[in-house]
Amino acid sequence: MTFTTRFAPSPTGPLHLGHAYSALLAHDTARSKGGRFLLRIDDLDQSRARPHWEQQIYDDLTWLGIKWNGAVRRQSDHFPDYAETLETLRAAGLTFECKCTRRDIDNAASAPQEGVPEFGPDGRIYPGTCRERNLSRDDATCTRLNMVKASQSTSAHFTETGPAFTGTHVLSSRDLQTTIGDVVLARRNMAASYHLSVVLDDVATGVTHVIRGEDLFEATRIHVLLQNLLDLPTPSYHHHSLIRDDAGKRLAKRDDARAIAKYRADGATPADIRAMVGL
Ligand code: GLU
Repeated sequence: MTFTTRFAPSPTGPLHLGHAYSALLAHDTARSKGGRFLLRIDDLDQSRARPHWEQQIYDDLTWLGIKWNGAVRRQSDHFPDYAETLETLRAAGLTFECKCTRRDIDNAASAPQEGVPEFGPDGRIYPGTCRERNLSRDDATCTRLNMVKASQSTSAHFTETGPAFTGTHVLSSRDLQTTIGDVVLARRNMAASYHLSVVLDDVATGVTHVIRGEDLFEATRIHVLLQNLLDLPTPSYHHHSLIRDDAGKRLAKRDDARAIAKYRADGATPADIRAMVGL
């Protein structure tokens, strides 16, 4: 299979040095392997996605010397596909409808138990309140994966080549239940969660290697579980270290000071950016 990787930014703010590193690393790796480098626009959250940020992504990447293969995939063009897969998971009895607000979840979880983590990749681990309630979709605000059922008899595993977590990672049912829990798969106003959409996008575009930041490592277990449940192939993963600011804090979207566009305006060259991120 042709080595295929991708860069998948959300058009919700300017790309900064951390994005430049991620994009250049994925791009250079694909080129060195004679493979494909794809660009995807993760504009799932339509309330935050903006056309001018999308345009800025194209401009910044082009300026950096990055060429992507084939057409750009935009998540907003695929909402019906996500909905269809959600139906498959519903029909398999692996989901439940939930109407808990964030406050409900905080309150239900307000007595932390010793040795049980409070937070997972999606924030506070869902306490299971609606799992047995059998709510109808009309009463619910989101659809969650029933992790108790979904994690049963899983044999899912993945290979990681990034610096912090190199090795083979096997998903255990207990870990999935205690450290991840019933994650959201879709919301009333959003066709799919990040987890469901990226799993489907990666398989639809033939991604064989996911190269992305270390901050997404924990979410990978959710993605690999979903691939397993949906009988989809699992790519290899490489979670790279994050570019941090001088205080050691990871860069955020609002870190406009480190936006690629800002460096460009200040006269930096693409080679300067490569040097700044250590490539
Ligand atoms: N869109 C995600 C982000 O900007 C990345 C998706 C992924 O690499 O899986 O953080």
